[in-house]
Amino acid sequence: VNYGIYENVDKTLPFTLICDRAFLAMKSIRDDYEHQIAFYDDEMRKRHIRNGQMENAFVEAIRNEEFVVYLQPKYSVETEEIVGAEALVRWRRPDGIVVKPEHFLPFYEKNGKIVELDFYVFEQVAVFLEKTKRSGIVPGPVSVNVSALHAEDPQTTQRYLEILQKHGVDPSMIQMELKETDTIRYENIRNLLHSFQQAGFQTALDNFGVGSSFLNLVGEVPLNDVKLGRGFIEKCEKDHRGTAFLKQLIEMLKSLGFQVVCEGVESARQVEVLKNAGCDLVQGNWFSMPLNTKEFENMLSLPGELRCRCREHTEYTAGGKTE
Ligand code: C2E
Ligand code: MG
Repeated sequence: VNYGIYENVDKTLPFTLICDRAFLAMKSIRDDYEHQIAFYDDEMRKRHIRNGQMENAFVEAIRNEEFVVYLQPKYSVETEEIVGAEALVRWRRPDGIVVKPEHFLPFYEKNGKIVELDFYVFEQVAVFLEKTKRSGIVPGPVSVNVSALHAEDPQTTQRYLEILQKHGVDPSMIQMELKETDTIRYENIRNLLHSFQQAGFQTALDNFGVGSSFLNLVGEVPLNDVKLGRGFIEKCEKDHRGTAFLKQLIEMLKSLGFQVVCEGVESARQVEVLKNAGCDLVQGNWFSMPLNTKEFENMLSLPGELRCRCREHTEYTAGGKTE
């Protein structure tokens, strides 16, 4: 049983609103098994208003093309050359503020709008790949993040393929990233990964080792790449056991036939550790922050020498105001 309590009642309010506030408090602990009692407070009210605004703003934001795709390059550890990129969504609001996904994706994941948003991001990536193909630039495969909710719809792969056909892009140019935690949770996701691979997409397991990890499942999921979550490389900075563990883990994943990518690489030392551990690809702010598509395209047109050392070129930072 959960209780929601609205104390210090404003008696000028209509009775229904007073009850709503108590219900709001109660709903805030719906998925929380540690608490049975919640008190209504002003932060709750503000969050409720914000969520309402986000709900209403979604259609408008899609229509006004406020969701924009940034691309973060992926580099070969061996050559330090760009070998692909990951598409990351941002919300560029009419006031110029760029909002990071952590502030809106959880909400859209809850109300299911993320499915539409993922297709939207995917189409932007297809447009980008169509454009680069025409100008003879080869960006390497671009990965897109796919929410677990897509596994509910048997038409998902077909819808993605139709978008690609519209823009004349081959599925092998796209990698579908699904989070490890989701893959474990849902049987359907494993089927979705199968159908992605059958359709010619590459697949990747994202945020590997973040939260609880079920190593035995890795061998059962159809994958090309495994992306190690940031925690692994951060641990290496702290103690030598972290480095030894990382090395063994990478060796094991490679022996299973996966390409290993490490995310969130922030220093030359980390790159060195990853090189010694045999990691294949790296992604992180040390090499390049996520860039808008124009910046990424410009970077790809640079001579090889500059392209692989873009961290020294400050003009290629995402820039702008962020929230
Ligand atoms: P992710 O897929 O694990 O993406 C990597 C995140 O790490 C990105 O955060 C990226 O900006 C950040 N990052 C990259 N290099 C560094 C670094 O050196 N240091 C640090 N501290 N962070 C770094 P971002 O863009 O905020 O995205 C967060 C998450 O939102 C993504 O995590 C992904 O799970 C989700 N996401 C982003 N775009 C989409 C989308 O279009 N659809 C779906 N379903 N999820 C998305
Ligand atoms: Mg990802």
